Amino acid sequence: MNIEAFFKITYGLYIISSAYEDKLSGYVANTAFQVTADPARFAVSCSKNNFTVGIIRQGKAFSISILKQNCSREIIGRFGYHSSADTDKFKDTNYITGQTGAPIVVDDCIAWFECEVEREIELDTHVIFIGRLVNNDLLDKEAEPLTYAYYHAVKKGVAPKNAPTYIKKEEEGEEKNAGKMDTYTCNLCGYEYDPEAGDPENGIPPGTPFEDLPDDWECPICGAGKEDFTIE
Ligand code: FE
Repeated sequence: MNIEAFFKITYGLYIISSAYEDKLSGYVANTAFQVTADPARFAVSCSKNNFTVGIIRQGKAFSISILKQNCSREIIGRFGYHSSADTDKFKDTNYITGQTGAPIVVDDCIAWFECEVEREIELDTHVIFIGRLVNNDLLDKEAEPLTYAYYHAVKKGVAPKNAPTYIKKEEEGEEKNAGKMDTYTCNLCGYEYDPEAGDPENGIPPGTPFEDLPDDWECPICGAGKEDFTIE
């Protein structure tokens, strides 16, 4: 198997949300697609480890919100790297409630689709939900959608373990360059702190070793503290 071939598949990034009774749930996904045109249907592939699976099953509906390219890392951190089981992701998020009762995230998003579940396809690790379009809207005509490639290259994001596209990193062996500053990886979200690049968005200039980061520095993707980082 050639792992590099997987990196050539293109994806967008979306917030998938659902509700059952008074529980709202949502997560960041790259696997959301339109699968038929008339009637319009959409599919999402959702890890069984993901709390939202149970909510979609019971609520029988989901919404897909398309993230915009310049969305905040914070919204990805909130929806992508925490579980709705123990976090109220919607508390500080602007959303509307759809006809199905599913919440629809509008913060940092450019369009949305609300679907009623028609069918579930059970796989070993994931469930694919196929839903018929109930309603949709365009929020921002001008903004570009966030693609997975952009997220990876520019925002330095990585797929969390539950993502269908998560790829376990191969061990890199003993070939580390002597004298090079160490790269540290966030144990929660997989973000890599590269000392050469620093974290300029948060006031850390390029060339800052991990050890010299202020104690209150946080992972720019998921908000984890320095203690949650380990050396690559
Ligand atoms: Fe993180």
